[in-house]
Amino acid sequence: MSDFTVRTTCSYCSVGCNLDISVKDGKASLKPNKEYPVNQGFCCPKGFHLLPPMQSDQRGTDPLIRDAQGIMQPVSWQQANQEFVRRFKAVMEKHGPESVAFLSTGQIPMEEMALLGSVTKFGMGWIHGDGNTRQCMATAAVAYKQAFGFDAPPFTYEDFEESDLLVFVGSNPVINHPIMWNRVKKNEKNPTIVVIDPRKTETTQEADIHLQITPKSDLHLLYGVTRILIEQDWIDHDYIRESTEDFQGLKDFVMAMDLDEASRHCGISTETMFDLARRIHEATAASFWWTMGVNQSHQATRTAQALINIALITHNIGRPGTGANSITGQANAMGSRLYSNTTSLLGGYAFTNPEHREHVASQLSIPVDRIPDKNSLPYHKILEAVRNGSIKGLWIIATNPGHSWINKTEFFQALENLDVLAVQDLYPTTETARYADIYLPAAGSPEKSGTFINSERRIGIVQKALDPPGNAKSDFEIFKGLAQAWGCGDLFTGWTNPEAVFRILQRISKGQPCDISGIEGYQMIIDRRGVQWPYPQDADANQEFYSRDHRRLFEDGRYFTPSGKAQLLYDPIAELPEVPDEQYPVILITGRGTMMQFHTQTRTGKVPFIQKKTRSHAYAQINPQDAQDLGIEHEGKVRVTSRRGTVVVDALVEDAVAPGQIFMPMHYPPTNWLTYPSFDPHSFEPSYKFAAVRLSAVGPQEDYQEPQPSLQAAAPAQGAP
Ligand code: SF4
Repeated sequence: MSDFTVRTTCSYCSVGCNLDISVKDGKASLKPNKEYPVNQGFCCPKGFHLLPPMQSDQRGTDPLIRDAQGIMQPVSWQQANQEFVRRFKAVMEKHGPESVAFLSTGQIPMEEMALLGSVTKFGMGWIHGDGNTRQCMATAAVAYKQAFGFDAPPFTYEDFEESDLLVFVGSNPVINHPIMWNRVKKNEKNPTIVVIDPRKTETTQEADIHLQITPKSDLHLLYGVTRILIEQDWIDHDYIRESTEDFQGLKDFVMAMDLDEASRHCGISTETMFDLARRIHEATAASFWWTMGVNQSHQATRTAQALINIALITHNIGRPGTGANSITGQANAMGSRLYSNTTSLLGGYAFTNPEHREHVASQLSIPVDRIPDKNSLPYHKILEAVRNGSIKGLWIIATNPGHSWINKTEFFQALENLDVLAVQDLYPTTETARYADIYLPAAGSPEKSGTFINSERRIGIVQKALDPPGNAKSDFEIFKGLAQAWGCGDLFTGWTNPEAVFRILQRISKGQPCDISGIEGYQMIIDRRGVQWPYPQDADANQEFYSRDHRRLFEDGRYFTPSGKAQLLYDPIAELPEVPDEQYPVILITGRGTMMQFHTQTRTGKVPFIQKKTRSHAYAQINPQDAQDLGIEHEGKVRVTSRRGTVVVDALVEDAVAPGQIFMPMHYPPTNWLTYPSFDPHSFEPSYKFAAVRLSAVGPQEDYQEPQPSLQAAAPAQGAP
């Protein structure tokens, strides 16, 4: 094959960096694209090492089926598809259409997500399917939907450069979104950077002001700041009147709160709250940025909306350098939110709305009764249904809940009740795939085509540069093959390839806030260096706006609600689901640990450079005072026990955490044996950031320890180390 170069989008995080992959003499290499407005010639170590995980000897090369002895045996695709269909149909025939479900991902292209959601729900007659975006972005999606009338992050990356006050809440972009942080560093307005975080992080070290609040007290702080803004009349009355609803309710609510009590809860003085409010008032353009510290909590949606409220009442939205801005997690979390056909019908429509079902059915030329008229169970309810035996067949695609699910004990208890577990992934060795009955080997992002949508709503191209190993196939081909084997392939004859699906999604999106009907195919996405949604068919009529590289929403103060006004939303502050006590006196915080590691390390754990530069064992950061009191040594080991389990991990004694708190990164399997399964009542996103634990020193001879699943069929999959 001749030498060539293709442009593609990094498939790790939501920044959406473009990379040029060159293949010369059969060898692939990559470099960040200089012209792309997102990364401007830079990328982080994860993107730079996108290719080695594709070449790992742990890649799945053939479908596998577990035999009677519990051993995974290679089979042909025809056999795998037949087995999948036989077993899932058997479950449905015995227990009905609600007895099967899928759990998908924010990691695969939008067209593949749409195909999966459509094949299962319109073709196979399934009702339930959710994605791992429930674990990271559900809160932002629901917060925006309730406040703005649609899941619409308002910002562009230029806002990092145009803001003179940037407030980051529960967010550590220096390591988690480093290319975004480059944009902050390029800001020439000498901005003030405020970071609200219970930990000292790489970002707090770069900030002007670090508000080191007590874990999960952010809502107290934000309501307190809202009250001060209103009390001092540091608000924009015209904007509130023209563009928001229920200001009086918000005012009455915050005026009834006790500022001193809020101060006690968050460990921040009322003077400091006042100072933050004053800075917001004095800023020409204040922007508010949040990530998982907000999204993953027991009252997450209202916390995100407290930030949205502040942006709205001070008119820090819809102007350059402003916004209440959720930074997404995974490469295609935004694509999943709009086009995966899981929690919303394709294109941000509602399964429960008959007109929406009619519209989508007519665009797809399928009978409307093929579209379920009820919503899927959310992720945690799917697993609860598996645990209680009402879901008996589960298909997991490109995600690894055997590592990442909150309180893994319950996850593995659930798996014991399944009649069939199918796992589709690059590797048969993940903590989840090891327990599969059917394993389907999938291609990685450099081995297939499609599009991702990044944090600023930019659709980026994914292009194939490499062939997948052995008989592995793109997720697209796998879904098509299963549809055919199931007997519903005829419904998807027009879904011939990813670009054909993109065209279908364009048609469906017409008239929606996420309208992409004006994009002239993949070539335009490549030529235009990504295209932000919306991009409607009549974009030409407003060239001045649509020709911009960066477009923000709500410049006209109109929102997607029926009244055109944004909703101000608030609630009394809820009690913590698990409170530290004498037995479990320490607060466990979790999060990302380094710039190099991603999520469960399914891929970054297979990069030799990253393995060398990061710790091989799980660790806990412990405050020096606590370590001294408990006799725990730096670089020794520590036993961490919660009501869910006990682990022994490395101890890092450092003052990054306050006394009475520890931090454990999410990248290592022990962490989620400890976390407490509570969920936000609106978004149902798990609260990973707060659990009660106790610590004790362990002797130098003691080894690392973590609970083991008690599954019977736990023989390692073929190829497992
Ligand atoms: Fe860019 Fe994120 Fe990929 Fe790093 S992981 S290269 S920041 S998209």
